[in-house]
Amino acid sequence: MILEVFPSGPLETNSVLLACSRTRHAAVIDVPPDSYDFLCDSIEKQTLSLQMILLTHSHWDHIGDLAKLKKKFNVPVYVHAADAPNVENPGVDGLPRFFPIAGVKPDHNLEDGQMLTLGDLQIRVIHTPGHSPGCVCFYLEKEKVLISGDTLFCGAMGRLDLPTSKPALMPSSLKKIAHLPKDTRVIPGHGEETTIGDESWINKNT
Ligand SMILES: [Zn+2]
Ligand SMILES: [Zn+2]
Repeated sequence: MILEVFPSGPLETNSVLLACSRTRHAAVIDVPPDSYDFLCDSIEKQTLSLQMILLTHSHWDHIGDLAKLKKKFNVPVYVHAADAPNVENPGVDGLPRFFPIAGVKPDHNLEDGQMLTLGDLQIRVIHTPGHSPGCVCFYLEKEKVLISGDTLFCGAMGRLDLPTSKPALMPSSLKKIAHLPKDTRVIPGHGEETTIGDESWINKNT
């Protein structure tokens, strides 16, 4: 497995480049503002073949360079249906934007429990509404990696006071990931990586 994290844009949003080392098939998870050059360089240098763009959710800081990346590689974009409107028309989620962001019509909806295949990698979609209604985490069971978006950070959970947040749903969303093996690496949407074991507070809070 190849896994690279590029913090990008004004909120240092993590863009994740994930690939199967055997087939070179790659996925980008979240495309923050200013992530385009890093991603293209890394894909080219490692002779990866981009297969898909996955979104943990649709906030502007996770989709700033999505239209550019989609245009260059012409690969399908996946997002949960509840967050799809803001991908197509950035701003309909009511968050202020600090610069214009081009919309993209998503190609596929992500659903809870869905499995995505990327070369030899199997990626499970876990729907974790709360921070936004269509938040998902991506779980690689064999590799013990969880890409958690803005649901879980090192020492904190995502904000629940945004216009489309669903605070009442967050406890059950955290419960869904709290039972994963303790040594699962967690790559959050912002900040340093952590592990499920180091975030054992989510058990007590749910
Ligand atoms: Zn967010
Ligand atoms: Zn974010």
